[in-house]
Amino acid sequence: MGRVKLARATVVLAVALVLAMAVGGATPVVAFSGFGATSGDSTYGSEMVFRVQLPGGPPDKLELLLRFGGADSTFVARVEPGATSAEYRWDTEARQVTPSTPIAYRWRATEGGSVTLSAEKTLVYDDDRPGLNWQTARIGDAVVHWYGGAAAQARVFGEVTADAASAAEALLGHTLAGPIEIYVYDTRDQFFGALGPGAREWTGAATFPSLRTVFMWLGGGSSSYLRTTVAHEVTHVVFQDATDNAFHEPAKWFNEGFAVWSEEQGADGDVASVRSQAGDGLLAFEGISESFPIGDRGARLAYAQGASMVQMIIDTYGRDAIAAIAEAWRDGAGDAEALEAGTGVPVAQLYEDYFSSFDVDPPTAIEPAPILPSNVDIPPQPAASEAEQPAESAEPAASPEPIDQPSGDSGITPWLIAGVAIATLAVVVAVRWGRRRAAGMGQ
Ligand SMILES: [Zn+2]
Repeated sequence: MGRVKLARATVVLAVALVLAMAVGGATPVVAFSGFGATSGDSTYGSEMVFRVQLPGGPPDKLELLLRFGGADSTFVARVEPGATSAEYRWDTEARQVTPSTPIAYRWRATEGGSVTLSAEKTLVYDDDRPGLNWQTARIGDAVVHWYGGAAAQARVFGEVTADAASAAEALLGHTLAGPIEIYVYDTRDQFFGALGPGAREWTGAATFPSLRTVFMWLGGGSSSYLRTTVAHEVTHVVFQDATDNAFHEPAKWFNEGFAVWSEEQGADGDVASVRSQAGDGLLAFEGISESFPIGDRGARLAYAQGASMVQMIIDTYGRDAIAAIAEAWRDGAGDAEALEAGTGVPVAQLYEDYFSSFDVDPPTAIEPAPILPSNVDIPPQPAASEAEQPAESAEPAASPEPIDQPSGDSGITPWLIAGVAIATLAVVVAVRWGRRRAAGMGQ
């Protein structure tokens, strides 16, 4: 190696050293030293953004914990931090959130073996669409929100809400854990723009009991219809609060029946409706505890039976029975257990008394109809090779036999099978003939 070459190598080495020092100097040694400021912000229909400052640098692992109002679970998101801050964006167009949902948020840092949590804050995902200049008034247990010129109507709904809530609270023997929020929308588009696919009862009002929130649309019906609807929906909110437990949803017929009963504080119309339909068959309460029939008659009858059963319980066992039933549900009881806790009689007796008050026998379960052998024409199957044939077992496989088949069919069935066999054979022959013909044409 000559002198010139040695000098060049020295220069290169020196430059590399200087560069390395410069790079090292630009990146000071950082370590997580706790959380700085945290914030949450939202734009309705677009996003929620959560931010945190990391003054000392990022931790080994950073997570955002979100607890949505009304939910028992916590949503945990892993977040990739920057040098001195981090951000998490929730796209609410893709993952819809009900307006007015409170979201409690806090950050969790894991550094080595230690975990640090930021203080919990709450972001309310409010409906801040342009043109919705919300105004608010508190009336009893109700907080009414409206915009535009709907102040007078909103106040009426606030009063209906306050009255319905205190009536339901008295009967259910439970005080609401917080006020009921009523959002009054002016136009259909604005109303439906506020609702997600999980909304209940779409005409005029939608309720989210676990959020203690009711959304109303002023054009959803006449003013008396809307008043009735508000009373019904608010009762659902109080009922949810009064029966809230981690184990079991109370019977749907009772929840709906109680809400219908609360519209008028009685069920005379429903009793008359059930009586008029008793001859055509009534619904078993076990059959309407999870969901209601889809058909119009069945759905209406389910509401009417629920309301009239609530009336019968109040008439026979007193108003206190309703509070006792709600308390049992709140403690995690099943339907039969809760109804017995309130009335003191076994649930079978309660149901029997109900049906005998309409001079009918309790409905009995309908046995499922047997599945008959298939009568579908099977298209020709490709012939399996000898090797693929399953070995014939000594015991023939059991074939399903029709039960309670009408005797008239017994003479027809063998002919039907013979007919299907002949038809299948004809198709097979036709296909083979077709193949030969195609092969012949190809030559
Ligand atoms: Zn309802």
